[in-house]
Amino acid sequence: MAEILTTQAELDEVFKRLERDYGALSKKQQAYAVREIGRIRAEIADMLADFAGEDGLIKRQRLGRVLRDLDAIEASMRKTGVDSLESIIKESSEWTTAQLAGAIGVGSSVQIGVNRHVFDYMVKRFESDGLVLSDRVWGMSGEIRDSLASVLRSSIIKGEGISAMISKIRRVFNAETWKINRLARTESVTAKRAATSYNAQESDIVKWVRLHEGNCGRSDHHEHKCHELAHLDRYKQGKGIFKPTDTDIWLPHPNCTSWISYVLDERWL
Ligand SMILES: [Zn+2]
Ligand SMILES: [Zn+2]
Repeated sequence: MAEILTTQAELDEVFKRLERDYGALSKKQQAYAVREIGRIRAEIADMLADFAGEDGLIKRQRLGRVLRDLDAIEASMRKTGVDSLESIIKESSEWTTAQLAGAIGVGSSVQIGVNRHVFDYMVKRFESDGLVLSDRVWGMSGEIRDSLASVLRSSIIKGEGISAMISKIRRVFNAETWKINRLARTESVTAKRAATSYNAQESDIVKWVRLHEGNCGRSDHHEHKCHELAHLDRYKQGKGIFKPTDTDIWLPHPNCTSWISYVLDERWL
């Protein structure tokens, strides 16, 4: 038997630190996704400059071509979106594994496998909306494209110059930022939960995981799924105690701030 020096109290401290540090990581990741996807604004500005005459205006007759060129913009947005979310998933998983695996005796080669397993799960999983990750990025890119198309259409018809169009495009992106943030946060949190659970499954000393309900501060919090789960005694092991394989506690509801910690197998204590 491997000698494990971790106590329950020490492990609880690791989780407290992890929850504290995770907020900063998640904010950084959201800013990264917004910045990466926002880069597309430069591509749009280039495209408009190509269509504009020397007076900085785009002739109405070119409207159809401008709108068709949005196909390439949308494709580029989808690719950037998928790439940045995939790198957020990898980062969250690797970060979580690095913080936890050592404390519970999961070796480094197994850690690589855990991170790969998390990634595969993340890109293939179906959410409650019946969509996988790439579908959700495509949906969002399509919505941004539609907003861009309507802004460009009305600007060109009104005869506005491209500098006015560019500032309207910036506003479109600002209005869509919350969607990018939400997508980045959901992927990041779920990857962190998946990594937490997969590492537990690989460890001999973790038998159960504990769900701690979120403290979202909303008056209807008692109706949130995390509150219900944290009070559920599914295995007669106590409230909020689950198996590391229970995926329904990973993200009980959108924007959930609940978290998971490990319960050590008593035989090791
Ligand atoms: Zn709540
Ligand atoms: Zn919650």
